[in-house]
Amino acid sequence: MDDITADIALSERPLIVCDVDDVVLQFVGPFQSFLQDHGYRLLPRSFRLHGNIVSAINEQPVDHADVTGLIAGFFDSQERWQVPIAGAAEALQMLSSDADVVFLTAMPTRYFAQRRRLLDSLGFAFPLIATEDAKGPLVARLHASREHKIAFVDDMVHNLHSVGQHKSDCLLVHLPPISEIHRFAPETPDTARRAGDWSEASTLIRDHFGC
Ligand SMILES: [Mg+2]
Repeated sequence: MDDITADIALSERPLIVCDVDDVVLQFVGPFQSFLQDHGYRLLPRSFRLHGNIVSAINEQPVDHADVTGLIAGFFDSQERWQVPIAGAAEALQMLSSDADVVFLTAMPTRYFAQRRRLLDSLGFAFPLIATEDAKGPLVARLHASREHKIAFVDDMVHNLHSVGQHKSDCLLVHLPPISEIHRFAPETPDTARRAGDWSEASTLIRDHFGC
């Protein structure tokens, strides 16, 4: 199997691995606009999309395969919908003067080109890895035997757990967006630090790196 981390060139500096959806690009809000445009809406009753998307006309739930299709359609047309998270571009630009930044997005690789173009157009010109595999093993491979400090930023608790299990010295930053569906999301684990916005996330990362 090809190692998708092999093409990422890292310098001799600390490393920030950063999620994309709902961390640097808004996801839930734009996805709700996309659903509305297609005659559906999100009815948050738990922290998942499948089972919580309904017809806008009669609130009938959309079946599993159709929800998967809607998510794929959204990723395919993401350049029309997604906008940046406040403060993300500025914060990462500042941090990148002292650290490498790599985006790690949980998205099918067939939408890589769309995401790359969108990130570039918004000033997020950092390397991008797209995968549907667990993030922990991939982050461990990416950092390998490097002795520099490392931080990981994500809105999803299961990704923080995965990276923590495979890279125990990694600073785990939980940066959840404010949205109705995130009220059902798991709490920040004890192993991670919660940040309310990119300013707080930057401070946590700089304290960990000592820069
Ligand atoms: Mg995310």
